[in-house]
Amino acid sequence: MSEKVFFLETKDRENIYEVLKRLEGFLKKSDLFNFVSERDFVAIKTHFGEKKLNGFVKPEFLGLMGRFVRDRGGSPFLTETSTLYRGDRSNAVDHIKLAIDHGFTFEATGMPVIMADGIHGDEEVEVNIRGKIYDKVKIAALLSKIQALVVTTHFTGHIVSGFGGALKNMGMGLASRRGKMIQHSTSKPTIKKKKCTACGECIRWCPVEAIDFKEGKAEITSAICIGCAECLAVCRFDAVVYNWSESYEKLQQKIAEHAMGVSEIMGGKALYINFLTSISKDCDCMGTYEKVIPDIGILISKDPVAIDSASLYLVEKRSGKKLSELSHNIPYRVQLDHSVEIGFGTTEFELVDAD
Ligand code: SF4
Ligand code: SF4
Repeated sequence: MSEKVFFLETKDRENIYEVLKRLEGFLKKSDLFNFVSERDFVAIKTHFGEKKLNGFVKPEFLGLMGRFVRDRGGSPFLTETSTLYRGDRSNAVDHIKLAIDHGFTFEATGMPVIMADGIHGDEEVEVNIRGKIYDKVKIAALLSKIQALVVTTHFTGHIVSGFGGALKNMGMGLASRRGKMIQHSTSKPTIKKKKCTACGECIRWCPVEAIDFKEGKAEITSAICIGCAECLAVCRFDAVVYNWSESYEKLQQKIAEHAMGVSEIMGGKALYINFLTSISKDCDCMGTYEKVIPDIGILISKDPVAIDSASLYLVEKRSGKKLSELSHNIPYRVQLDHSVEIGFGTTEFELVDAD
């Protein structure tokens, strides 16, 4: 059976206030926020962006979601989790400061930022699922204490999962630190000594100090590496090598199973919104931004698998290319196919015009 995916088409770099007006008009006519009940605490999950980059979903859109939650009598707040790697998003204090620097203030959105996994990213709950890899997954603890969830996602390419959509935003973005670690742990690169110029860039970027020089060449200590792929992204000499046939597949399956855990804990009280705007080659965690296709629009659905499936369809329809040609050459449908295999969502969708 197919799921409805509502599609609000936008022009490339369309004025944000015009888009907001059209989106608000559509949401007012729809019953999409009816899943929110009086007195529900409702987390609006987003990505606050990496320092100095601004591909993320803008605070104005989140403010609009917050207003619709309040209109239903709910109490909305913005939420995120800490990253595995070092930097400005690795603990709640620095992360919230970065969010404020990027405009996610109470004044702009009408909502506080409350981190879902505590100050150090280690507050978690185990959720039982019927996966193929796991029978339980580790999710940010806050989700067990709230009633509903809105997942807002900036849709992008991704260096390991092929694309970053709703599934990745939930599966990785709402996993606890241990949950994230478990997902990354089979994806470990090595360094080809012959190609390494010893520029040191990978050492500078490695979040867990897993790389060091040995006899004048970079070398990864596999026991420390968390498989985040930062070194792969920053090496300009193709010296970092991944075992893709194992890693991309397993990682995407694990993302799908963690996303299923998030869905289970929310008991279906969730809405998914994908922004196919400023679509970049890499996700918002990376230190660089390269737009790969003109803006497409905004998608809304009750099914995270259907919305990601529709997002990929629209990217391919608009560009005439597969996402792997625009981003990294990785078979990216694994996360969708695995979701369907474990009985989580559907890739069948019906696009409904939201204008
Ligand atoms: S970035 Fe590449 S070339 Fe530079 S030290 Fe690391 S592996 Fe070697
Ligand atoms: S993948 Fe590379 S950057 Fe990431 S932890 Fe492992 S060695 Fe470090």
